[in-house]
Amino acid sequence: MRCPFCGNVDTQVKDSRPAEDHVAIRRRRFCSACGGRFTTYERVQLRDLVVVKSNGRREDFDRDKLERSIRIAAQKRPIEPERLDQMISGIVRRLESMGETDIPSKTIGEIVMESLARIDTVAYVRFASVYKNFQAADDFDKFVSELRPDAKIEE
Ligand SMILES: [Zn+2]
Repeated sequence: MRCPFCGNVDTQVKDSRPAEDHVAIRRRRFCSACGGRFTTYERVQLRDLVVVKSNGRREDFDRDKLERSIRIAAQKRPIEPERLDQMISGIVRRLESMGETDIPSKTIGEIVMESLARIDTVAYVRFASVYKNFQAADDFDKFVSELRPDAKIEE
């Protein structure tokens, strides 16, 4: 797994344990090149989802991108990390169980907003205000940078 800080591919697993009531395996990783520490999750993927953007372009659903945008919106809010993880897993499970492989990006944004609204108003408002400017959040990377231009995701 490539180090998100320096790009080195030689990272080591320091610790593995079940997470989210055994739905995932949480691995703590260490980068021997820069000393960076990060966490990865291993999960069953029920189906390969494709995001359909409003311009008709399609790309593989990327859980990490979704997670990044949610974590930035929730930054420094008093939300238990476990709760956020569960929320993200819940969103992905909802998407997977919609019965369609192709999911409009708009639908994803709406589900995220609905879920965030339930756990934290500030995080919801942050996400929603940026999301609505982007119409359908077509470009998640751009979306994330707009959400918080100099944001660093904390562990
Ligand atoms: Zn590194």
